[in-house]
Amino acid sequence: MSVASSAAGAGLPSAKGAPSVLVVEDDPSLATQLVRGLSRGGYRVDHVMTGQEALASGDPDVVLLDLGLPDVDGVDVCRRLRERSDAGIIIVTARGEEPERVLALDAGADDYLIKPFGLAELLARIRAVLRRIRPGGEVLRHGPLTVDLRTRKVTVHAREVALTPKEFDILECLASDPGRVMTRQEILESAWDAHWYGPTKVLDVHVAALRRKLDVPGLIETAYGRGFRLGEV
Ligand code: CA
Repeated sequence: MSVASSAAGAGLPSAKGAPSVLVVEDDPSLATQLVRGLSRGGYRVDHVMTGQEALASGDPDVVLLDLGLPDVDGVDVCRRLRERSDAGIIIVTARGEEPERVLALDAGADDYLIKPFGLAELLARIRAVLRRIRPGGEVLRHGPLTVDLRTRKVTVHAREVALTPKEFDILECLASDPGRVMTRQEILESAWDAHWYGPTKVLDVHVAALRRKLDVPGLIETAYGRGFRLGEV
């Protein structure tokens, strides 16, 4: 059974051109969470529940591979995927499966996650794998937002938004780790200078302009007294 769970299926605008992730997971509730989280993260997502289906699937950019599958041994799936594909392979294992994890890394997996893991960590690992696969072409994604670090092009719901260099740098900083509060100091150091000693009011002015241009309520949240972060939208 192949459940084609696209971003559109999750009620979000379809992430055309977004990297694709194949989730190979036989636990339905975990799979549902992963599909939802990855769709929200801006990825195109497909889900299969068996090793056979994973091997019969197309050519995703990243495979999230559960090692404990009902049919084919996960390590075997990993090896056979690697023989025919350059996809980033991130294996997902339970705590007790260390020998299998080592075998899977030897069989060509790029990285691994141990259950239970958080969505933020998963998204960070996927970004890291994509950076290795597509060097220099990294695009940060968060909900309707894309930030292309190479071309410095920003889109919201596929609409291009013209930003000043400072606005772009601030957004890049926030989008590098969506959900985490970036302190005012961190943002200033990343967008201005390694050692910013000037007034920080300037940051609020730029953030206000950014919010106006992006025009997505709740996208840039204020963490009072601390800084800013990208919120769930
Ligand atoms: Ca399993």
